[in-house]
Amino acid sequence: MNAFDYAAPRSVDEAISLLDAENGDVGILAGGTDLIAQLKEGGRKIDLLLDLKRIPEATALTFDEAGLHIGAATSCAQIYTFDVVQSLYPALVDCTSLIGSIQIQNRGSMGGNFCNASPAADTPPSVIVQGGACRIVGPNGAREVVAEDFFVGPGQSALQPGELLIAIRIPPPVANSGAFFLRFIPRNEMDIAVANAAASVVLDADKTTILSARIAIGAVAPTPLLVADAGAALAGKAVDDEDALEAACAASRAAANPISDMRGTIEQRVHLSGVLTGRAIRGAIQRAKES
Ligand SMILES: Cc1cc2nc3c(=O)[nH]c(=O)nc-3n(C[C@H](O)[C@H](O)[C@H](O)COP(=O)(O)OP(=O)(O)OC[C@H]3O[C@@H](n4cnc5c(N)ncnc54)[C@H](O)[C@@H]3O)c2cc1C
Repeated sequence: MNAFDYAAPRSVDEAISLLDAENGDVGILAGGTDLIAQLKEGGRKIDLLLDLKRIPEATALTFDEAGLHIGAATSCAQIYTFDVVQSLYPALVDCTSLIGSIQIQNRGSMGGNFCNASPAADTPPSVIVQGGACRIVGPNGAREVVAEDFFVGPGQSALQPGELLIAIRIPPPVANSGAFFLRFIPRNEMDIAVANAAASVVLDADKTTILSARIAIGAVAPTPLLVADAGAALAGKAVDDEDALEAACAASRAAANPISDMRGTIEQRVHLSGVLTGRAIRGAIQRAKES
């Protein structure tokens, strides 16, 4: 690891000024569970380590009528132990509570998971299906990008030079809705997803018909994907319509564009996209019925 400077700004403005003034490479630090490994072993070299954890907006975890505000440096453990998340956003518990280990969950943040932009990241699908957005700050002010548009390619996000992710926002859940996330790994824990999927559904007042649905899949394409065709296949259909469910699964299989690597083959990942989509939809419907 090379020598570098360290700064822990106490406001967004101070962080943006430091980013603006630095001529070399800046490593933005949230939990460091990806970044420190990249500095130690991955050959990444930086001139300044910019720690976000003293910026109040980056560590806030709040809920109001606008929805859930997840500061970008808030740890996964803080997220899944927040009572509002447990009661209103269980799909966030699904994903944040399976990342790495307890130690990783206590350090690693959702913001870091997004900005690392791994195709196999576990938190984006849940945020995408729940209509989440990324609040980005930079020298030209603040802007919001819907979560599905934040990912540009492996390791590449919509962040421009001088910008940082300050928060992820998710609207309040509507009545009779539910969301669910799951992944496939060959081991029980401490592994990277071979494939993952999330679903959200809104049911009618009788809880017999799906009014709308959103499906997202991960680790099966260069970025996490919102599969609009899968959601469309379910809209207006009965909750027990198996043909509609299979159409949604087929849409995910069609959208998947994976690679073969040490974790899985193209064929396995395409197959898993359908299987996990079906299970995520069933889980989301069950939660909507119980809501
Ligand atoms: C043992 C182990 C197991 C893991 N298991 C999983 C797993 O099961 N699922 C999974 O998805 N991931 C897993 N990971 C990866 C990692 O823990 C997660 O991606 C974690 O959420 C990263 O968060 P962080 O706060 O530690 O990010 P950091 O390491 O601090 O940052 C990650 C990257 O994003 C940049 N960055 C961070 N925050 C911002 C910001 N606000 N604005 C701009 N850029 C920013 C950093 O500069 C860096 O490039 C694992 C890692 C380890 C070491």
